[in-house]
Amino acid sequence: MKNIVKKYPDGFLAVNDVSIDVADGEFMILVGPSGCGKSTLLRMIVGLEDITDGDMIIGGDRVNDLAPRERNLAMVFQNYALYPHLTVYENIAFPLRLAKTHSEEEIDKKVRAASKTLELDENLERKPGNLSGGQRQRVAMGRAIVRDAQAFLFDEPLSNLDAKLRGQMRTEIARLQKRLGITTVYVTHDQTEAMTLGDRVAVLKHGLLQQLATPRELYENPVNLFVAGFIGSPPMNFLPATVEGTEVELPFGTVSIPQEKADRIGDRGKGKTLIAGIRPDYFEDASVVDESKRGQGSTFRATVDVTEWLGNEAYAYVPYEASDEVQAQLEQLERDLDGESVRSQMVVSLDASSTISDGDEAEIWVDPSRMHLFDPESGDNLTLG
Ligand code: ATP
Repeated sequence: MKNIVKKYPDGFLAVNDVSIDVADGEFMILVGPSGCGKSTLLRMIVGLEDITDGDMIIGGDRVNDLAPRERNLAMVFQNYALYPHLTVYENIAFPLRLAKTHSEEEIDKKVRAASKTLELDENLERKPGNLSGGQRQRVAMGRAIVRDAQAFLFDEPLSNLDAKLRGQMRTEIARLQKRLGITTVYVTHDQTEAMTLGDRVAVLKHGLLQQLATPRELYENPVNLFVAGFIGSPPMNFLPATVEGTEVELPFGTVSIPQEKADRIGDRGKGKTLIAGIRPDYFEDASVVDESKRGQGSTFRATVDVTEWLGNEAYAYVPYEASDEVQAQLEQLERDLDGESVRSQMVVSLDASSTISDGDEAEIWVDPSRMHLFDPESGDNLTLG
């Protein structure tokens, strides 16, 4: 996608100059809150939506003016769009029969090969209604495979499923995509899906590409407040911060950041309150941090409001006060994030062995070297190079 623009007939700019290069065989995720333009972008790749400006290039060919069927892409729909009265075999064979380009023998060969790859060979005579969600998903993918499509496109395929099935299907899709090695573009609003499935993830907001990076890079080095708040669960904590050299004053005390981070911020932090971004897992119960690590961070005392113990880890919630200026910026961020709460309490991730409990005044350890500092106006992450 080169400088892709989509302006709807009513004048609404849904996609604003987006460039994304999907590598051969790559699993690319388009993610963002409702209305960010991700479905519009996917529909432009498939050819279901006109492209206002820019170049859509697939396998070296500009496809802007090609009809959907000439692009040779396979869209796997949310509800799988299987025909309930047809067998699995006939469902998979359907696109080939429709195209009228293959003999009966060739169709049979392709359907059997695809169903073998998808481990559906024992279910060929069954109807979709009698299959599990995972099997149905595989039938839908089988249809895409027999067509030798150049790429798979998914638009929120798991959003109608319950949490458990969604988890299973996610693993299934990831496994198949890796095995088949087919270039895939997958749209979701769910950051967990994005992080677990994607080789790379494109984060969109209001039709603008915010960051295109690996899940790890997005988590460790978000370019702005929006990406920082969108990626990660529970979300990153945002606190008011004033910076003086390497010293950062936070609501719970003063911590030191590495010199190189302070250098990157430079004068941009002078005379204003920045927004510090600290992920829950940058904290720990100070009593379980070993001696060697302890000195690399700072400890502070905090009154814990509520704790949640999840078995493998625990969370503590610590209230804090933010200035009006920071509150205003965070309110805007909450609107951008579809109402996700990011204000006035700090989530601290604790080791499962921690004995901190509700109402305790606890000693908390934090690793400030991983902390981010954002400009309150632009939202830019000032700690990145
Ligand atoms: P969701 O997750 O809710 O589906 P999305 O990120 O996929 O959201 P799109 O469906 O791509 O969003 O829509 C992007 C924006 O374009 C939205 O603000 C939407 O209201 C607008 N939009 C979509 N279709 C049209 C249309 N036909 N005419 C005008 N505006 C449209």
